[in-house]
Amino acid sequence: MKLTDLHTHSTASDGMLSPTELVAYAAKKQLAAIALTDHDTLDGVPEARAAGEKYGVRVISGAEFSTLYENISLHIVGLFLPETSKKISGRLEYMKNARDTRNEKMLQNLRNEGVDITMQELKKAFPDSVISRAHMAWLMQQKGYVGSKNEAFDRYIGNRCKAYVEKESLTPEETIALIKEAGGVSVWAHPLLCRLSDKNTEKMAERLKNCGLDAIEAYYSSHTPQDTKYVKTIALKYGLKLSGGSDFHGSIKPGLDLGTGYGSLAVPYEVLEELEKIKR
Ligand code: AMP
Ligand code: MN
Ligand code: MN
Ligand code: MN
Repeated sequence: MKLTDLHTHSTASDGMLSPTELVAYAAKKQLAAIALTDHDTLDGVPEARAAGEKYGVRVISGAEFSTLYENISLHIVGLFLPETSKKISGRLEYMKNARDTRNEKMLQNLRNEGVDITMQELKKAFPDSVISRAHMAWLMQQKGYVGSKNEAFDRYIGNRCKAYVEKESLTPEETIALIKEAGGVSVWAHPLLCRLSDKNTEKMAERLKNCGLDAIEAYYSSHTPQDTKYVKTIALKYGLKLSGGSDFHGSIKPGLDLGTGYGSLAVPYEVLEELEKIKR
């Protein structure tokens, strides 16, 4: 069966493989297509496309946007995003700047807690990346301040911890509109990670559909077969298309593999073909 993976990260954000390595790995895993969906950036896309031609893997340009709806953190993946859209690149640039300011504040908070890691060190270790908390956790572990990345989140940089600073983010409505305007397809990523009740998951799906949401991630690494079935019923009920991907990050998320997730993930290529039909 022809397979795809429509949710992946590279070193352009917090993944551990470069865009070229990621695409080469996709070829090795016999995926016909992948979407590169780095957090807040399309910077890895040109390199991934070039690698796609070399390795015979179709590459879809994408990005994952962190959004906030009344304190609920919702991730929206945009697929088929044109790198040339001024609106998209302007927005991504704005978010990158907001992130830089937030990162500096967090590093200062960490220093106040006796954890001395600097932006120079982060930039040196991850020269091509949009720097996130995932990178801070990695460096904190490298320098021996914590025994694991989880400990870094639990003690210092997790939401509500001492060094945490909220990131500026768009609302899901704004994000969906931005993706639509650019001609892309919007996907509610990992809806079950929001940990809403069934009733509120449905309510949210309906709200997002009313804002123009195109699809929902039914195939996802952590989904049980029941989870996938459940998300499919929501999709059917609210007129959303299906999407699916592993959320592969490389070795930073051990056990989670490209295409196959924790072992049982398989996203049929038809999922991509169906989404392509609604690309504007
Ligand atoms: P940021 O976008 O800077 O807020 O960082 C978010 C990134 O940190 C996510 O993409 C995850 O890769 C990682 N992350 C968030 N929470 C945790 C956690 N509790 N444990 C490990 N990694 C996490
Ligand atoms: Mn991530
Ligand atoms: Mn996400
Ligand atoms: Mn992701």
